[in-house]
Amino acid sequence: MAKRRKLIVGNWKMNGRLTSGLNLAREVADRATASMPLTFDIVLCPPATLIWPIAETLMGSPVLLGGQDCHYANHGAYTGDLSAGMLADLGCRYVILGHSERRMAYGEQGDLIAQKVTSAQLAGLTTIVCLGETLEQRASGATETAIVQQLSASLPDKYHASQLVVAYEPIWAIGTGEVPSVEEIRIVHRLIRRSLGVAGETVQVIYGGSVVPNNAESILQDDDIDGVLVGSASLNGDGFWTIADKAR
Ligand code: PEP
Repeated sequence: MAKRRKLIVGNWKMNGRLTSGLNLAREVADRATASMPLTFDIVLCPPATLIWPIAETLMGSPVLLGGQDCHYANHGAYTGDLSAGMLADLGCRYVILGHSERRMAYGEQGDLIAQKVTSAQLAGLTTIVCLGETLEQRASGATETAIVQQLSASLPDKYHASQLVVAYEPIWAIGTGEVPSVEEIRIVHRLIRRSLGVAGETVQVIYGGSVVPNNAESILQDDDIDGVLVGSASLNGDGFWTIADKAR
């Protein structure tokens, strides 16, 4: 089977102003351009306000752009929302969907996320669908059940595997400095692959949760881990590039 390409995604969340965001994007773009041709894909997901100025900054570099969420509808009376088509219009190639922060803060559940997947794939975006168990589920040995349930609930009946990435993000590992062992990540990634059936052979399954320069190498060197979704550590250009460079 062909080796899957690694994918490095920086999720800036609600961080960054015009100047700081442009500087950060420029630093990553310069480092990536100097390392061309890249053997992995690298994506920045800034807040929506910065997508367009950063799109201009990234032109000519191998760094790709993504949104942090989108609405399931293509347009209409949805105050404050953004559609997948709008993200694609600005040059985004990816969108993060079902992040645990949105699941928790806005009660987003599987059926809504599945609708967003359909709409985003229709707009031509690659959908990064996030899943992860809580600390309680982990402690009670319910990780595998939680992951399988979330995966099937978050995917529509029909989707394009070539436009799907699954991000395994244990909730207890996000922003805490706690990281599962590579063996634990591998077990969940293999479970996700099996659950996806034939699509599991090609879909990238990436890990997210307290990835930092010091732990990135062991995570990224594992063949069952196709990349990383990085939160806090993506806000530092040097640190983020150090992580990405471990995917070489
Ligand atoms: C995330 O929120 O997707 C994430 C992985 O955050 P952090 O890297 O800060 O744990």
